[in-house]
This record gives sequence, C-alpha cells and structure tokens, in this order.
Amino acid sequence: MNNRVHQGHFARKRFGQNFLNDKYIIDSIVSAIHPQKGEVVVEIGPGLAALTEPVGERLDAMTVIEIDRDLAARLQTHPFLGPKLTIFQQDAMTFDFAEYAREKGQSLRVFGNLPYNISTPLMFHLFSYTNSIKDMHFMLQKEVVNRLVAGPGSKAYGRLTVMAQYFCQVIPVLEVPPESFTPPPKVESAVVRLMPHANIPNPVQDLRVLSGITTEAFGKRRKTLRNSLGHLFTLETLQELNIDPTLRAENISVAQYCQLANWLSAHPQTQENQN
Ligand code: SAM
Repeated sequence: MNNRVHQGHFARKRFGQNFLNDKYIIDSIVSAIHPQKGEVVVEIGPGLAALTEPVGERLDAMTVIEIDRDLAARLQTHPFLGPKLTIFQQDAMTFDFAEYAREKGQSLRVFGNLPYNISTPLMFHLFSYTNSIKDMHFMLQKEVVNRLVAGPGSKAYGRLTVMAQYFCQVIPVLEVPPESFTPPPKVESAVVRLMPHANIPNPVQDLRVLSGITTEAFGKRRKTLRNSLGHLFTLETLQELNIDPTLRAENISVAQYCQLANWLSAHPQTQENQN
C-alpha cells in the first residue's frame, strides 16, 4: 500500500504532511490541551482533522488555518465539524494573530502538529504575537523541542532557546515515535507547551538587539564571547556586566543575553561605530 495516501488524500511533502494515526497519542495531546467551551482555539494545519475532531467535539466553535486548498475544502464539508469551524485557507506565516484576538475579544489558544519544514520560522512568527496568545501546544521534531527546553551549558542551547524562553515558559509534554504518523517522518517527534509569560522576566528595550546578539554569538558558538561579541562589547564592558569573556555562547543565561541587549541599546554609539 502507498504509505503517502491517508484517508484518500495523497500526503504533500511540500506542506510537511505527516498525519497522526495513533489514538493514544491523539488522546494524550487533546488532554494536554484541555480545551474548554468559550475559549478561542486556533489550530494550525488541521490536515485530515486527527486533532481537530476530538478538540472540536469539546467546543462550540473552533478556528483552523490550513494552507492546502483540498484539505480546507474537505473540512468545510466535514459532517459534524464543518458548521463549527471558521476556516482560513492561508499560510499561517501570514496570519495576524493579534488582529484575530482583538476581533474575538480574548487571547488565543493555539495548537498544531506543525509542518516540520517551517516550524522554526513559524514559532518566531508566533513569538511576535505572545501578547495575544494564552498558550500554544505544538508537535515538533524532538530535536527542536530539545532546543526549546534546553538550559545553558548544553549542546541544544541556542538562539531558538533564548528567544523562546524570553517570551514563554517552555514545558515538554510527550514524545512521539515515527510510526504514529502516516507517512512516518524520518525523525522522532515531541509535543511541547509554550506559555507566554504574563510579565517578561527580563524585558529588553529592543528585541532586534537581542535577536542580533544571539545571532552573532551562536553564529560563532565555538568561539569565546570575547571573540564572538568582541566587536560589540569591550572586555571591560563584559566584566562590568559580570559576564566572563572566556565563556562561549551556550554558557550564558537568557537573563545575561537580555542584560547584554539592554547595555547595547543604552550605548547606541557602540553599534553605530560598528556599522
Ligand atoms: N493536524 C494534522 C495531523 O495531526 O494529522 C496534520 C498535520 S501535518 C504535519 C501539517 C499540516 O499543516 C498539513 O495539513 C499541512 O497542509 C498544513 N500546513 C503546511 N504548511 C502550512 C502553512 N504554512 N500554514 C498553514 N498550514 C500549513
């Protein structure tokens, strides 16, 4: 049997289509999400409704964003879900979650078994809307979940970790083997819960500066900070900030990255001199 055909649909690689087929895993994800009537629940990439059906059963209304026109059309005519669904047939990367939360008058609960080919840019897109999001549950490559939850000092700790933990509390939920999908992906998967902080613990003045520093530091992660960030911070500044210049990018905390970003924002001269 062709393992790319599931429920009469030919899985499209370009849309990262790996459909969940495992009832135990599906039930576990739905319990983790714990959808409640009255909440505004948005699913990214509902596909053939493996998660949409059990989540939709618990709600009076639900919103989905699906890029694949055929799948969006199928959902429209779904026997019991169809009438409950608001369907956006569009790329989730272009969806304005803040506008939608405003329209609905409350913050959103977002979830999805994300297409792995765009999961990282999609998460960065969502981080820009954390003010409008109550929580997020995502199925991702296990390696990406490991990066999201990592602490300083580990190989998995990187730019994605710092940016995710800046905005959210990150909690691993469950691991999922390839056989739980049709067709099976080549990698292990895992589900993660991201809960935007009500108050950002270490707010930065300018996110672009934080983003820039993490790009520089982790772009040269084998180098010491004195080398990777030397063009932005003098040795004296690093010492003044209590940051050991002989450490590497993976050894300093999210709070310390924020401290660096705020120092740089307060000393724009330093940046200008470098440009
Ligand atoms: N939720 C289904 C499941 O768990 O079986 C399908 C998951 S499949 C991994 C990813 C889904 O996201 C597919 O339905 C795919 O068409 C959709 N998708 C891919 N890229 C998308 C994008 N940029 N915006 C919205 N949906 C997208």
